[in-house]
Amino acid sequence: MAEIPPDLEFSIRATYFTFTFLWGACTGSLLNVVIFRLPENLSLIAPPSMCPHCGNRITLIELFPIINYIFLKGRCRHCSARISARYPLVELLTASICGAIGYHNAFKSFTMLENALVTMSDLMLAAFLIACFFIGADRGKTYLRLTLPGMAAGLALSSAFQFMHSQSVSIQTETAPELAPIVSAIYGTALGACFAFLACYVINLLCRTTSDAESGQISLSSIALGDASLGAMAGAFMGLEKLANGCIYAVIICIIWQITARLGHNYLEKAHRGTDGHGHNTTFSPFCAAGCIMAIFVQVA
Ligand SMILES: [Zn+2]
Repeated sequence: MAEIPPDLEFSIRATYFTFTFLWGACTGSLLNVVIFRLPENLSLIAPPSMCPHCGNRITLIELFPIINYIFLKGRCRHCSARISARYPLVELLTASICGAIGYHNAFKSFTMLENALVTMSDLMLAAFLIACFFIGADRGKTYLRLTLPGMAAGLALSSAFQFMHSQSVSIQTETAPELAPIVSAIYGTALGACFAFLACYVINLLCRTTSDAESGQISLSSIALGDASLGAMAGAFMGLEKLANGCIYAVIICIIWQITARLGHNYLEKAHRGTDGHGHNTTFSPFCAAGCIMAIFVQVA
């Protein structure tokens, strides 16, 4: 692997980036639907997407908000109603994160097949985390019907990786990792659940104002349970070590956010308290999701 010339290495990385970026753009388009429909308990497939103003069906090209913003200047083709800038932003964010995962993972493992599996796992995890991030920020909670399938997918992929890795390790006679991938994933699931559950309680203990306590629309225990499922899902994909890094980042991001929210409390506090003006219990899920996305790329511990 050390013998690859730098320009070849770069073009391989660029190829990975291109494919995963395009994949991310498609995923982002789907995530826009998930973020909007899943909390409302609507089907993700039917009815097809339509313009909220005129009800006309959205064509395939318009389904990709980035393309829509370039060619139609962010307006509906039929009634010219403005389409929220949030859609292309979610799509661009997803595409960028997925592209970065491709670039980052290009030379990660011994074999191409293993690389493909790790990348697939990271791409899927990122998609789930981005959905949880936005739904958590919008609705103040995490939905089990999003995180439980995610957890199952994470454990399945970790098992597949375990199988593949045990094969390639025996071929390459490399030293086996200290913790088998599937064991690490199971520990990660448990640790993620405990950590997110506790973090949710602590953040509410420290940051809740007195009025919030009475007017909380969603009970703290149901939010904490949702957050725990998000932590478990992340752990199932990431394994113990990456998850531990994700937890550290999540706490740092949360502290920075809380300080910023208090300094600029007019706008941010309002956003934090929800658009209805009532205080509510705070979910840890956006911080946890952001921290775990960071941990895909950088690990300090
Ligand atoms: Zn329209």
